[in-house]
Amino acid sequence: MSDSTTAITGATALVGPELRPVENAVLIMTEGRISALGSSDDVAIPAEAQQVEARGMTLIPGFIDAHVHIGFFPPRRVLRAGVTTVRDLAWPPEIIFPMAERSKAPGFQGPLILAAGPMLTAPGGYPTRAGWAPSGTGLEVSGPEEAAVAVGRVKEQGAEVVKIALNPPAGPVLDEDTLKAIVSAAHERALEVTGHVYGLAELRKALDAGVDELAHMLMGTDRISPDLAARMAAEHMTVVPTLAIRSGGELKAALGNLGRFAAAGGRVVYGTDLGNAGASPGIDRREIRLMGRAGLSPAQIIESATAAAAAHLGLKDRGVLEVGAHADVVLIRGDPLADPKALGRVKKVWRAGIPAL
Ligand SMILES: [Zn+2]
Repeated sequence: MSDSTTAITGATALVGPELRPVENAVLIMTEGRISALGSSDDVAIPAEAQQVEARGMTLIPGFIDAHVHIGFFPPRRVLRAGVTTVRDLAWPPEIIFPMAERSKAPGFQGPLILAAGPMLTAPGGYPTRAGWAPSGTGLEVSGPEEAAVAVGRVKEQGAEVVKIALNPPAGPVLDEDTLKAIVSAAHERALEVTGHVYGLAELRKALDAGVDELAHMLMGTDRISPDLAARMAAEHMTVVPTLAIRSGGELKAALGNLGRFAAAGGRVVYGTDLGNAGASPGIDRREIRLMGRAGLSPAQIIESATAAAAAHLGLKDRGVLEVGAHADVVLIRGDPLADPKALGRVKKVWRAGIPAL
């Protein structure tokens, strides 16, 4: 099936990392890659191509969700609703790493899965006692001397990133020395560190230790000042907002914090925390609406889930519609640059040129 050629015609394609609209486009997929892309005046349709007529619709790169717990949903539901790559940020290693391995096959009916494996935490800390987390979702690290072994173990199992927890309301947290030892062990192995970081005290600790990413905008209701947002941006800390899982005062705080971080030039990468209450499988309408409320433009929202996400996750030839890229393509109804709600109206999805069923 991956050897077949498909031509999508008539849609507006958002081309390249800058999402340049090309009207009445022809996008051709062959052997899992985009083999031709341009205006219908410039691109010939091969005689053997299976044609998909898509007038009035928009072609976007498949969404990348940088924070999920894929074990809560059938992977095909996630793919079918427009997400072609996910990063799982905590699940028992004996389940998630084999699943991530299987997901590499182009015919896999689900997104490509990158995984952190277990979350590194203090003994008894989050998520070892969390109701949602199956046993093995947390990996306890009791001191700096255990850091390298723990990081080495998850790296060997297949971790693409190291997840840590600094979540005082849910139990003890990693001390400064242990956190620093984890971060340096990760960086020595070319892994970045992402964190569940609760409030301002934990954020300062994470920045001091060199944590690369917030897996959520701060939880709780602490306010990140413009100065602190500028420090985060200057130190190249990336934020995965996960707004969809919040409500009330915590949502309000997260919206303000995200707005100030984005205004400071910080890198925002789309992520929903799928598996937690509030997030839905696939391109998440609520997350998108809330990112807009925080002040991100439609183009910034799309970029955060495509080109910026691929760059941040080190994914080559993904997150972009261009010749040579993986044919991870989503067809939606309407114009998402005019109205980001269109992103939730997924008509058809291809991963590696193969239609999602
Ligand atoms: Zn999560």
